[in-house]
Amino acid sequence: MNKDFYSILGVDEKASQGELKKAYRKLAKKYHPDANPGDKKAEERFKEISEAYDILGSKEKRIQYDQIRSGGGGFSWSDAGGQASSPFGDGGLADILRSMFSGGGGFSTGGFGKRRTSRHTVVVSVPFRTAALGGTVRANLEMPSMCPVCMGAGGSGEKTCLQCAGSGRTQQGQMVMPCPGCSGTGKTYTDVCSRCHGTGQVTSSEAVDLNIPAGSDDGSVLRLITPSRKTVMVKLRVNPDSFFRRDGRNIHCTVKISAPQAVLGTKLKIRTLDGKIVLKIHPGTQPGTVLRIPGKGIPYRGAKGDQLVHVEISLPSSVSEEEKVIWEKLSGTEA
Ligand SMILES: [Zn+2]
Ligand SMILES: [Zn+2]
Repeated sequence: MNKDFYSILGVDEKASQGELKKAYRKLAKKYHPDANPGDKKAEERFKEISEAYDILGSKEKRIQYDQIRSGGGGFSWSDAGGQASSPFGDGGLADILRSMFSGGGGFSTGGFGKRRTSRHTVVVSVPFRTAALGGTVRANLEMPSMCPVCMGAGGSGEKTCLQCAGSGRTQQGQMVMPCPGCSGTGKTYTDVCSRCHGTGQVTSSEAVDLNIPAGSDDGSVLRLITPSRKTVMVKLRVNPDSFFRRDGRNIHCTVKISAPQAVLGTKLKIRTLDGKIVLKIHPGTQPGTVLRIPGKGIPYRGAKGDQLVHVEISLPSSVSEEEKVIWEKLSGTEA
């Protein structure tokens, strides 16, 4: 299987952005799942095309891709043999691209030999409500920093790493990885620093108060300068809520009522992001009814989304003798 994004889109590597777009549109239309219902092959092809265009369609990403493709970076672009149903399976090419182009991940595109810069991405968990309404989260940011003992050198008595002959890289299957013998630096030491074990880096942690803007979503990235003047990219991981589900600016939730409550109507106390309110269920409410509570969603540009309440009606799985009489009356099969 060929994983070259240009051949996936069937274009020349010198194709203009316009030509790329045209080729992508034509293929996307042909393999779109709507046009090929139930066709797994078409679905995979569609994914492949989308991934390829995601990279090549962006001028910036295309330049980076071209550099790596021509051997400028530390990655191998051939895949592990095409046994996977999706060429972009877990831990594969797509993950590398994602980490590269999102600015996250452990390594830079400049090759493994270089030391990391102070710019680093950390993931911080945020409670659902704080992300929605905004607030502060105290977080301990763990970051690599220069080893204070060897000042980043890794030790003394520098030698070229024998395991990788100084390249800092090693091949694992079809993937190029940092050399484990020298942690990608290409050098080993006669006196390895006992503090950092030769990597030149230690993990330091710094406590910060993060200001979470209202409406932050899972995966949002904040740029932060720590009290020690380090620039950190903080990726937010929004914790799921047991009751609320988020959809853009709106909040969804599900409530269960009994059959008599649905038939006769009732009042329910339900949670919103800013406290409990009483929600009126009208007589004759049907299963699947969605009630909208305006302004109880996520704040956005001075306005707020809505809360959408999905009403489910639960029927008893068993009834007592007395209840049975009532249900029989209702069903018209009275004995
Ligand atoms: Zn050290
Ligand atoms: Zn090495």
